[in-house]
Amino acid sequence: MFPLSPGSTIGILGGGQLGRMLALAAARLGFDVAILEPEADAPATRVSAHVVQTAYDDPEGLKALAELADVITFEFENVPAAAVAQLAVLGVPVAPGARALAVAQDRVEEKTFLNDAHAPTVRFAPANSEAEAFAAVATIGLPALMKTRREGYDGKGQIWVEQLADAGPAFVSLGRVPVVVEARADFVRELSIIAARGRTGEIEVYPLAENHHSGGILRRSLAPASVSDALAAQAEQIAHRVLTALDYVGVIGIELFELADGRLLVNEFAPRVHNTGHWTQDGCQVDQFEQHIRAVAGWPLGPTNPLARVEMLNLLGDEVETWLKLAGEPDTRLHLYGKREIKPGRKMGHVNRISPLRG
Ligand code: AMP
Repeated sequence: MFPLSPGSTIGILGGGQLGRMLALAAARLGFDVAILEPEADAPATRVSAHVVQTAYDDPEGLKALAELADVITFEFENVPAAAVAQLAVLGVPVAPGARALAVAQDRVEEKTFLNDAHAPTVRFAPANSEAEAFAAVATIGLPALMKTRREGYDGKGQIWVEQLADAGPAFVSLGRVPVVVEARADFVRELSIIAARGRTGEIEVYPLAENHHSGGILRRSLAPASVSDALAAQAEQIAHRVLTALDYVGVIGIELFELADGRLLVNEFAPRVHNTGHWTQDGCQVDQFEQHIRAVAGWPLGPTNPLARVEMLNLLGDEVETWLKLAGEPDTRLHLYGKREIKPGRKMGHVNRISPLRG
């Protein structure tokens, strides 16, 4: 069945901005898109041929999506595992697969997997009770970062522990759910690498992006990041190891800490297109969204070499109200998600500011 012919239908679980940009890329290659999304009027549903509006784990909704779609992918990693299992029973291919999803959904599974794949992380220890949290912080050392094992995003569900006595209260304040205690990474920079693996195992890697967060939310990415050849090679090796070990199909976003001694540690990976890869829309011939569609459809992967230097800025909350000014700025490409409601900190759009490549 692969490569899928133009005119085939790509199913996407999730109807947010990533789904929207995937759907637009799919449409350009001649595909139809079917979105499964619980909320009415979500960004991706307004640019897609078919919409199934149910919960992600609604058996009828999944059946309807499976009937429409030739292949199914997702735009966020917290798709219930049971939903992916049901799609497998229905016989429709899902990419990236259930394993990538399961590993990415649990920070302990993820870090264990990464270390097994020789993609190094900070030291970590799991904890399921106040007593275990205390013991884990004692083992890892201070300061330590306590994170919920599941469902954390944009810096939510995590708390710094500065003193041993704070370990128990931190566990309680996170809701008494299973956590991971991480050693602090003394990073000099946060970087990320966006990479893709196709159905025949070929891998393409974009240049590294340098990322700046505030309050746990990505504000700004610069790409290609200025890095040594050795650092780029290290990141590419990590991407190859992760993609191969997961037998992955699609685009992945891997967040990295650059340490003062030049080593890279993996913070986490997202089994999907990634906010730090939005720069590729205006910096590469084939962006991460088209690359993901190509991979899941079994098409050849596109080139990832940079054509421009890009500064990507997220438009959070009411920052989006500057759209008219931004639209008038030269060398600024505006990407708006069509969200109806502005909320503080909500990702409403982004801009890519383009300049010539150095050197
Ligand atoms: P995460 O939710 O894991 O992506 O973490 C959000 C942000 O918290 C990261 O982008 C880092 O800036 C910071 N962070 C996460 N883990 C660590 C760590 N072990 N040491 C230092 N900073 C961290």
